[in-house]
Amino acid sequence: MTSESKPAHFLQNIIREDLAGGRVSQLATRFPPEPNGYLHIGHAKSICLNFGLAQEFGGTCNLRFDDTNPAKEEEEYVDAIKRDVSWLGFEWNGEARYTSDYFDQLHEWALHLIKEGKAYVCHLSPEDARHYRGTLTEPGKNSPYRDRSAEENLELFDKMKNGEMAEGECSLRAKIDMAAPNINLRDPIIYRIKKMAHHQTGDKWCIYPSYDFAHGQSDAIEGISHSICTLEFEDHKPLYDWFIANLPVPARPRQYEFARLNLNYTVVSKRKLKQLVDEGHVDGWDDPRMPTLSGQRRRGVPPAAIRKFCEMIGVTRSDSVVDVGMLEYCIRDELDKNAPRAMCVMEPLKVTLSNYPEGREEILPAPGHPVREDLPARDLPFTRTLYIEQEDFREEANKKYKRLVLGKKVRLRNAYVIQADEVIKNDAGEIIEVVCSVDLDTLGKDPADGVKPKGVIHWVSAEKNVDCEVRLYDRLFSDPAPDAGGKNFLDHVNPDNLQVLSGCKGEIGLASAAPEHSYQFERNGYFCRDNKYGTAEKPVFNRTIGLRDSWAKMGE
Ligand code: ATP
Ligand code: MG
Repeated sequence: MTSESKPAHFLQNIIREDLAGGRVSQLATRFPPEPNGYLHIGHAKSICLNFGLAQEFGGTCNLRFDDTNPAKEEEEYVDAIKRDVSWLGFEWNGEARYTSDYFDQLHEWALHLIKEGKAYVCHLSPEDARHYRGTLTEPGKNSPYRDRSAEENLELFDKMKNGEMAEGECSLRAKIDMAAPNINLRDPIIYRIKKMAHHQTGDKWCIYPSYDFAHGQSDAIEGISHSICTLEFEDHKPLYDWFIANLPVPARPRQYEFARLNLNYTVVSKRKLKQLVDEGHVDGWDDPRMPTLSGQRRRGVPPAAIRKFCEMIGVTRSDSVVDVGMLEYCIRDELDKNAPRAMCVMEPLKVTLSNYPEGREEILPAPGHPVREDLPARDLPFTRTLYIEQEDFREEANKKYKRLVLGKKVRLRNAYVIQADEVIKNDAGEIIEVVCSVDLDTLGKDPADGVKPKGVIHWVSAEKNVDCEVRLYDRLFSDPAPDAGGKNFLDHVNPDNLQVLSGCKGEIGLASAAPEHSYQFERNGYFCRDNKYGTAEKPVFNRTIGLRDSWAKMGE
């Protein structure tokens, strides 16, 4: 998925050298989500990177659920993650894998460390253990349990495993170096007691390996050559390497770090996204306002737009915040090229064509897309009564207003030129109808009288259309950095992030619109049918994105 024109990034260079120098014969990567939430746009960066490298170098990429923490993990998340990775357009190598598949092996390797005198059961309370660990500037102190014999440790660890110890009573720790400058090496915990059922292993275990103990060893079991993770794991690398060096693992994977994706106006943390869901700020993980992949899908964002975005932002080792406008640019660009066109009137105003016979219906052809001839053409029923947008008519206007004005002409898109002759108002003085005359000699050409219409407006037949609801989304947060510097992101939820228009009228072909696939509603933006709400008679359309592109213009 890399473009030829872009210079190689540091991971591509490393892999190229490793393959050329023979350190690895085939590239093997993995994407290792913890199934404790839905995937978000930040994960997309990691997915595109890991799967993209495998594609580029003829290697493989595994999907591995990093399920070492039974407390926060659920099957629902496993299913959602698989769906999202597939939707993004990637295929994992073989079956999906689980770190829990390796619990037996990991347990054996824990025994191995104990027998080698490199792990011990520690009975320090969590509070004491924290105290013994030291700080960034002070070395730690050895635990009083550090010199237990291998026999005693084996016996105690067995008791832990058999449920004979209470949660928090003790843990298994690697015996490394309490004075190490890197705190991760100060006898890290490798097994904890958690008397809790696991979504994959059920009641089999009441001890669970730590992330650090499980991750690298799982990489080794799967023969991963390049274990790519985000920068916050940089300090864990010496520990990753220590386990690999001290265990009889079948392979020697190496860890590489890259900068995670941060986006302005967005939070990319599963914990925070879960809070938005749990506290009802949004309608579930797949709410179209969410930066989750399922939310973006429901909103009509094409997976190719996300892949393109990930390609554009590149891969580096320096943290930065990407402008969400860049993602929006990629979405628009993709949809402009590929989204079929349609017309939908958001706030209808009735137009009656006084010189068009009642009961008559013509079918006017319209292109499915201005350049994509493979997209099917549309059939637009044209009738005596039509709807146009309320904002597309004025009784009086200056020259800048290129729409319908009383006494003047306008072209109906893909149809005839009409002239507004008379305005009908209700008792409150509001315009409820415009009586117009149609010039039937203007299909595809200007009027014979030489008076050219100044603008083109969209319309639908008032007699044959799809009654629909349209949901206009805005950014979920009004603050560019909603969770920066101790801010409570919940205080910055944009109160106007959703506007619902319920009496919209779409062209008749939209009755068969497939959910999640955006159309360009001409002059209004990109919209897709919602995959959750709406009925056959009254579909709901989500606005994917507006037509105006502020990001691309910024560079001009
Ligand atoms: P969160 O902070 O949202 O919970 P996480 O890192 O805990 O994210 P994991 O399920 O552990 O979530 O992530 C799976 C993979 O995705 C990891 O390799 C992780 O580094 C990567 N990843 C997560 N968030 C981002 C991000 N914002 N940018 C790039 N990669 C990310
Ligand atoms: Mg994580």
